[in-house]
Amino acid sequence: MQLDLNCQKCEESFSLELTELQAEPEIRCPGCNARAATGQIETLIEALDDLFAAVAPLRRKFQVTLEIDSEDLPPPYDEEPSVGKAKVADPDEEDEDEDEADDEEEDDEIEEDA
Ligand SMILES: [Zn+2]
Repeated sequence: MQLDLNCQKCEESFSLELTELQAEPEIRCPGCNARAATGQIETLIEALDDLFAAVAPLRRKFQVTLEIDSEDLPPPYDEEPSVGKAKVADPDEEDEDEDEADDEEEDDEIEEDA
């Protein structure tokens, strides 16, 4: 299981294996050396552990895939991070009608070249 991270400061993208994080609770940007507070990482690890415990019993009936995107958290956690670029909140509440930005669909049709 892997965490994908994107630095708010320098926009570097990197990823961490959960096992690495459990072994050494450190998140450090390889681009600018920005670091997350150890307490925050420990809290995250504990919370993930609780989540795993909750998901495990569901496995008997369902395979569960869960994506957590910190840019897309439900309320009340959906406010902009105080670090980084301060986006001015739009006074009109129009954030509901964003078009589903389909990334270019890749046509990898499987060609049977026998
Ligand atoms: Zn960075």
